[in-house]
Amino acid sequence: MKIHHLSPDEALKSLISSHDGLSGDEARRRLSEYGSNRIDKVQGEPLWLVFIKEFVHFFALILWLAAGLAFFADYRQSGGGMDTLGYAILGVIVINGLFSFWQQFRAERAVAALEKLLPQTVKVLRAGKMSLILAADLVPGDVILLQEGDNVPADCRLLEAFSLRVNNATVTGESMPKARDAAPSSEEDLLHGRNTLLAGTSIVSGDGRAVVFATGMHTEFGKIAHLTQTARVSTSPLQQEILRLSRIVALLALSLGVVFFFIGQSMGLSFWENFIFAIGIIVANVPEGLLPTVTLSLAMATQRMAKRNALIRHLPSVEALGSATVICTDKTGTLTENRMMVTALYLNGQILAPIAVKRQRDLAKLYRRFFEDAMLCHNLKETVVAGKPRLLGDPMEVALVRMAKTCLGEHITYPKINEVPFDTDRKRLSTVHQTPKGPVVYCKGALEMLLPLCSRVQTGAEITPLTPEARQSFTHALEEMAANGLRVLAFAWRELEEGHDGAQVERDLILCGMVGLEDPPRPEVRGAIEKCREAGIKVIMVTGDHPHTALAIGRQIGQIQSETPAVITGDQLRKLSEIQLRLALDAADIIFARVGADQKMRIVSALQKKKHVVAVTGDGVNDAPALKMADIGIAMGVIGTDVAKEAADMILLDDNFASIVAAIEEGRAVYDNIRKFLTYILTSNIPELVPYLAFALFNIPLPLTIIQILAVDLGTDMLPALGLGADPPAPCIMQKPPRPRQERLLNRSLLLRAYLFLGLLEAAAAMAAYAFVLHRGGWVWGERLGSRDMLYLQATTACLSAIILMQVVNVFLCKTPGQSLFFGARLLANRLLLWGVAFELLLLVVIIYTPWGNLVFGTAPILPEVWLFMLPCALGMLVLEEGRKWGVVRWRGGRRG
Ligand code: ADP
Ligand code: MG
Repeated sequence: MKIHHLSPDEALKSLISSHDGLSGDEARRRLSEYGSNRIDKVQGEPLWLVFIKEFVHFFALILWLAAGLAFFADYRQSGGGMDTLGYAILGVIVINGLFSFWQQFRAERAVAALEKLLPQTVKVLRAGKMSLILAADLVPGDVILLQEGDNVPADCRLLEAFSLRVNNATVTGESMPKARDAAPSSEEDLLHGRNTLLAGTSIVSGDGRAVVFATGMHTEFGKIAHLTQTARVSTSPLQQEILRLSRIVALLALSLGVVFFFIGQSMGLSFWENFIFAIGIIVANVPEGLLPTVTLSLAMATQRMAKRNALIRHLPSVEALGSATVICTDKTGTLTENRMMVTALYLNGQILAPIAVKRQRDLAKLYRRFFEDAMLCHNLKETVVAGKPRLLGDPMEVALVRMAKTCLGEHITYPKINEVPFDTDRKRLSTVHQTPKGPVVYCKGALEMLLPLCSRVQTGAEITPLTPEARQSFTHALEEMAANGLRVLAFAWRELEEGHDGAQVERDLILCGMVGLEDPPRPEVRGAIEKCREAGIKVIMVTGDHPHTALAIGRQIGQIQSETPAVITGDQLRKLSEIQLRLALDAADIIFARVGADQKMRIVSALQKKKHVVAVTGDGVNDAPALKMADIGIAMGVIGTDVAKEAADMILLDDNFASIVAAIEEGRAVYDNIRKFLTYILTSNIPELVPYLAFALFNIPLPLTIIQILAVDLGTDMLPALGLGADPPAPCIMQKPPRPRQERLLNRSLLLRAYLFLGLLEAAAAMAAYAFVLHRGGWVWGERLGSRDMLYLQATTACLSAIILMQVVNVFLCKTPGQSLFFGARLLANRLLLWGVAFELLLLVVIIYTPWGNLVFGTAPILPEVWLFMLPCALGMLVLEEGRKWGVVRWRGGRRG
């Protein structure tokens, strides 16, 4: 007989286990026999294939072609030095491939490391005690506890279930939730057994206890894992843009090369001269290494975000974060600490402090059912942590149990026999317990949701019909408590007949009292909200709590500043048409209160139609659709369910609103950083190009050789560019409005600044240095210089040095695109950048002043006077750029004023 045909006890026996679970020793033994409860990852692309790919992509192919042509040229006309060029280009392919591979590898490692930060845990019973263990340590025979929102960690069979429903979509493909219970099932197939829970599926509602019968690769999910695992992550829009962009640039380079080849031909230059020339132009302009640098800077950003407690699940969300314009946030646990404390009780028509109730023992006796309600009606699990018993679950329920225990002075344990689970739509929880006097239903939840179920009210010892006046007094008391920011819960109960109808317990209840809980706002949230205001990001609170409570908290944290904020309840929201809702969303301060599960999604979609980029938080099963729909779905790491985490793009390790804002800051920084190094890399293309133009147009010796171009593009420029990619967020980054979604990475102003301003300045300096050396050496126009001539070597060295020196200055100019270098630019904050510049200068020294460098790069040591000539040029660029920035600020100010 298959396990789902057996009764719960037989099932346990067949797995040599018991209702108390396995002993610790037996669990350890089984772990070593059956192995970890893990699905083996289907191998992605093998490393060697990734490695090979770095050598056969589009740019690499262009370079291979260039190398091939160079060798061909050497074969046709040997002795022309073309073979050196061929080897140099081969060197480039190798260096570039290795560097890209290394970056790719680091990026993947960084993303993989994030996964480990949030291991999945399971509540397991071992030797009768409940504890939290890693899902990977589960073994067959373990008894586990599952509840709404949990992922099922292994194949298991239910022993006990309350209103349990599962979503089996991941295994069977059916998307409708299925009810599950503990009774033996007659289905033939295990997959469809009414008491089986399959690994990889999730609990949609209810809770239960189950015994594990298969783990890891033995599970049904393990058997089909190779079908469902998608190996490749999709590339982000940003990466696609970079790819497209570098292709365009490469094509441009190629066509420039061809065009200039023919111009040269028509000017009567020799074929081989022309040929070097064309290859030079191509190589100078191909943006080698751009894509891996972008990927790496995204990956590094995810690591910085993780340090600030925001775990990115998909690389593309890093960019979406940077352009977020609205955050829809939960209240409890995100804006507040979720450290609940009962500070008020409403009993017998008056609001009392718990301490006062504790002193009046007779009042507590009268309201015994009320305190039983608070003590029993919950979904907490008892566990032992470090030898002490602890309650695991919703902090609010823990606070209620504590309060009831102190007020009543005793501990009550009536076994739970039925439950109508809590969800954000019902906003209440009912449990049925077997008491000495027969079964009793206890219900707690939002007053509005309880009132329609109540027909009677308890006042002191009396139970009277619930009159409109009695309702009024409860509602007044609720509003009074909520206005102080308290979270208010109402309590009701009823004694049931034996053999009652399980589905009909929530009616004819006796309303008995209310509790007000204080949940202090997180201290850092106020600052974070202020930051959002400055950054042009709107914060909207979306809560299931009472509007008064929400408003009071909203004011405390500064989310609500206006006198007349828009407070929209779920009921009102339901009545709003699409257009009315969109209009309502224009209000400056908005709170959605008492909203149901489906409504979050409606709010998100309305905001998106208003062209907002929406970040939304969530923790429950019902939040999953909204999390998926939003541009950035954010799940809570601590109180969030597995289902919510799976649907999210980002997980908050500390549930804290402030961490969202920190992540947005990092997201903005990434985008800025990519622009910074794009500017930096593109700038040096001009001083690399201009010497070839001058060579062709003015008939002078070639000022910069191809190998020297490569020394810049693949040597000195590389690390500083990477350093720019890792730049920390500028202090002013959260004082700008969000970047428009459709804004291009490479826009006109960036191109103009890089090519026509910074680039031309560098080119001018490089050509001037070249001319300076030639002139000093007594060269006259039209004179031919041999490629081994000392004067020529010194002149090209001067040209190369000038470019590198200008790039050293440029890296700092690029680091601070919108702001003066001299005011608060924190130039020394980026260590990687400083190392990059140090490396750049070191490489320059090696190239100029070592025989080895001279040989490889065709250079010669230059005299101090050349440096004295170049330094003012570099300073000149600094001064001009500062002037330009100042001018832009003045001009913008003028336009605004
Ligand atoms: P929030 O946005 O504050 O997280 P929830 O959706 O969790 O709101 O809760 C909405 C309302 O449901 C609460 O104000 C409360 O009245 C009720 N509620 C919350 N948790 C429970 C619970 N465990 N049992 C009964 N009622 C609850
Ligand atoms: Mg909640």
